[in-house]
Amino acid sequence: MITVEEAYERIMQVFHPLEAEKVSLWEGLGRVLAEDVYADVNIPPFPNSAMDGYAVRAADTAGATRENPVRLKVKGTLAAGSAPDQAVEPGMAIRIMTGAPMPPGADAVVRFENTSEGGGNARMTGTAHTDEVAIYVPVEVNENVREAGEDIRAGERVLAAGTELRPAELGVLASVGRVEFLAYRRPRVAVLATGDELVEPNEPLTPGKIRNSNAYTNAALVQKYGGIPIPLGIARDTVEDLTAKLRQAVELKVDLILTSAGVSVGEYDVVKDVLNSLGQMDFWQVRMKPGKPLAFGFIQGIPLIGFPGNPVSSMVSFERFARPAILKMQGKRKLRKPVIRAILREDVKGGDRREFKRTIVERVGNTYYARLTGDQGSGILTSMVKANGLAIIPEGTKVLRAGEEVDVEMLDWPEEE
Ligand code: AMP
Ligand code: MG
Repeated sequence: MITVEEAYERIMQVFHPLEAEKVSLWEGLGRVLAEDVYADVNIPPFPNSAMDGYAVRAADTAGATRENPVRLKVKGTLAAGSAPDQAVEPGMAIRIMTGAPMPPGADAVVRFENTSEGGGNARMTGTAHTDEVAIYVPVEVNENVREAGEDIRAGERVLAAGTELRPAELGVLASVGRVEFLAYRRPRVAVLATGDELVEPNEPLTPGKIRNSNAYTNAALVQKYGGIPIPLGIARDTVEDLTAKLRQAVELKVDLILTSAGVSVGEYDVVKDVLNSLGQMDFWQVRMKPGKPLAFGFIQGIPLIGFPGNPVSSMVSFERFARPAILKMQGKRKLRKPVIRAILREDVKGGDRREFKRTIVERVGNTYYARLTGDQGSGILTSMVKANGLAIIPEGTKVLRAGEEVDVEMLDWPEEE
């Protein structure tokens, strides 16, 4: 039996970021940039008002108070999107809206609230545009003015290759006009279930059959981690059928093949036989529970991870070995789920293998508490529904007592490095 770490290393050494492709802004969320991005203009491109108010010469407002306001001649209005057509001369003001370019001559903005238009703008209050405005509070040079380039300077590198695109990064790409950019391709992942007992969820359950759930959890996990699932249906437990399905995956030029079941030591566990004949196959026993049997290898150069058939084993193995591979192919560096320390609410038995127990973690104040979801059988898929984490019980642990601390991998939390 090999350790979880050894299996992880042997799998991960095979995967690398895929080629870059052109990606548009609408499709960019969660993708990883494969190029440095530079700004070709200042953002904002021109000095503009940070407030609705009056563009003035700051010096004109010196000493203004409510009792002794400074009165300025109002010459027109500048809306956002308009271009100034006159300069602000001494003793003069131009009404200006947030985002409108500062007119020449003006060096500050007095907000409406500090003027005789304090009740809101003329349209809101129904008053006619005045020829004169009273300024109640002085402003300093540059007050309420946003400088050109204060966010981004022309020529600056705004985003580096390797950056994962969140909504904020997409906003920056939009502001510098990058409607397309290079990002690592998302892996196409074939998802195949195997087993004579399986029917698809829409088919009637005849005697001896169960519904194929692994294909759906696996496909959803592929999507959750940014891959594109390619469903290949169900292969029967025969060399012929499995061979045909795997050849199909090869023809589809997928980046990874995921199978479930048929990798154990049962009489009809043909996955490893087919893999041995069709490609190069390692078959391992990994020192973990659930998820001991694991197949790993290549079919005509395409990596294949064969999960055990039990639904929980399949999901736990996916989180260990397929999640990081899928993330790495997208150029991501955050491959792991956060592991927190939590206080056990109950005694938990361990064993020879590393055990991953389905766990419900709750936070009380600043402390995390963990309790198991109940029956830990590897066929109890509803235990994964209840769980938000996997408690990790180190190999060789006899028992962890209630009140002791345990590591819990938080499956619902975002990945970290
Ligand atoms: P195996 O790994 O083939 O020995 O299967 C282990 C257990 O997982 C058996 O009880 C199978 O019926 C079950 N199983 C296999 N494939 C699936 C699947 N796609 N969905 C749900 N259960 C499955
Ligand atoms: Mg089977």
